Amino acid sequence: MDTTTSQPAEPAATGIPLASESRIPEPLGPLQLVEYPHPALLRPARRLVRIDDAVCEAVEQMFEIMYESVGIGLAANQVALPYRLFIVNLEAHCDAGEELVFINPSLSRPRGTAVQEEGCLSLPGLRMDVRRPERVVIDAWSLDGTPIHLDLDGMLARVVQHEFDHLEGRLFTDRLPEAAALEARRSLETFREVFEGQQSRGELPASKSLLARLDRLEADRCAGPNAHA
Ligand SMILES: [Zn+2]
Repeated sequence: MDTTTSQPAEPAATGIPLASESRIPEPLGPLQLVEYPHPALLRPARRLVRIDDAVCEAVEQMFEIMYESVGIGLAANQVALPYRLFIVNLEAHCDAGEELVFINPSLSRPRGTAVQEEGCLSLPGLRMDVRRPERVVIDAWSLDGTPIHLDLDGMLARVVQHEFDHLEGRLFTDRLPEAAALEARRSLETFREVFEGQQSRGELPASKSLLARLDRLEADRCAGPNAHA
């Protein structure tokens, strides 16, 4: 028997991450809006290197969830997907406005300053004035792989910066001046008590299993462990 010709190639030599390829990918849906302090909101999302049908379906679901909540922007980690992706529709309605999808975005050229009240679907009921650059450039990819390069101002600039913060694991409450930050901290403590209460009653999984799911989702569609954008 000649074993030298029938031997399969060494898996390591292919450079393909077999550990993630060899198991069934973690199902993405059904998606649900998550609230502070869900761990998906508190750690940076990872760059997507694989856009498959499941991601496209997840984006559709994200639009539905955003419209149900009358939101104008939604980041993937707000539905517990640890991917660098967010959606925007300034009209908050499926029959109006433009549906925008930004994948692996980067922001540059911040200019000017504007203060405006913001809210967040992951911090329901909390609204506060937030200071941000008035204009910013975004580079990203659309869902069909088209490069996006836009110089933004007005509401679109604000929403894009709010959603980009989510992908960095930041909330608008991280951008408040000291007095407002103290006020926000009390609200955040209440959100935390509610969240931990749901976990202790078994209505939400423990943080350890929420984190394990995020790790599996990253392994399915993101680059290696050092690929944080
Ligand atoms: Zn938000």
